[in-house]
Amino acid sequence: MSDSKFSYSLLATDAQTAARRGRFQTPHGDVDTPGFMPVGTQATVKGLTIKQLRATGAQMVLGNTYHLALRPGADVVAELGGLHGFMGWDGPILTDSGGFQLFSLAKMTRVSEQGAVFRSHIDGHAMELSPERAIEIQELLGSDVAMVLDHVLGLPAERAAIADACDRTVRWAERSLAAARRTDQALFGIVQGGLEADLRVRCAEQLVELGFPGYAVGGLSVGESHAEMCRMLDVTVPVLPADRPRYLMGVGRPIDLLESVARGIDLFDCVMPTRNGRNALAFTDEGTLRLRNARHERDPRPLEADCPCAACRHSRGYLRHLFMAGEMLGPILLSIHNLTYYQRLMHGAREAIGRGEFAAYRAKKLAGWTRGQEP
Ligand SMILES: [Zn+2]
Repeated sequence: MSDSKFSYSLLATDAQTAARRGRFQTPHGDVDTPGFMPVGTQATVKGLTIKQLRATGAQMVLGNTYHLALRPGADVVAELGGLHGFMGWDGPILTDSGGFQLFSLAKMTRVSEQGAVFRSHIDGHAMELSPERAIEIQELLGSDVAMVLDHVLGLPAERAAIADACDRTVRWAERSLAAARRTDQALFGIVQGGLEADLRVRCAEQLVELGFPGYAVGGLSVGESHAEMCRMLDVTVPVLPADRPRYLMGVGRPIDLLESVARGIDLFDCVMPTRNGRNALAFTDEGTLRLRNARHERDPRPLEADCPCAACRHSRGYLRHLFMAGEMLGPILLSIHNLTYYQRLMHGAREAIGRGEFAAYRAKKLAGWTRGQEP
């Protein structure tokens, strides 16, 4: 990478898969990869204090440009110390560009070559987001990694529409690079292309030509099957340079993470651990547990015997009681456990890659999840 404030060091590669262990250095500290970023949509990972968040093992968190630009406003965040100072997290932060929310949350989004015009999902207020404005907002937020504004399509979509969105994404990426001013912020390009393998490859090649300090694979986890997602990674990741971090946006379940790590992905983010935690669903090595189920009522065991998290100091029966009684501690404790689970899963993956045994690690986890799946 040209800028000395950011670098990616490749530490180990797996013998049987494309999995790799590395370290991504940023101005606010290092991130061990493969790594998982908890989602702090509104400058908070829902329900957790910063101290609790750090205790899960998280090294880097994600903030949402769309949400923060609407409320409280990027200028307010900038005045209160940027996103690091505002939320009190002094580790690395990545902000998305708002592209995904623009096409999933906002009302009446209209796209032109200039950018997107949309209505806020909060108050219907008309707003405009261009590639340049997305950079300006993220520079005010002061994240370590900013994302280019991309044109995201829901799947399935017509090939012609996907090709059009892909080309626009590349043109917007070029404008984003030209607009970026901060030297303490790395800008990542985003590969689009739906489920069209050749469009994915072409988009990746064009972005690599532009030269970004990191690359993301976007537009997945939008309704396609697990096999389709894997197929897109199989064709896309080999195009990306080995000396830059690779980030798979918005994915996913534990199985998605391990299959993506096996294909050479380094970074992940997903709301699943926290959203499912709030809904009484716990991730474990023996599959997911639905704590509202009656069978947990008198169960004295913790969610996982070897988990060091705050939730696992309690019985499954107690955690179930918290949800049945509508106590706020239930969603908080399960969010903590699930985030800890994801961090432990990634930590185990890094160790396994270092030993050259990632394939065996993946097989063992898969067997446990399948065996223990709750009806
Ligand atoms: Zn736990």
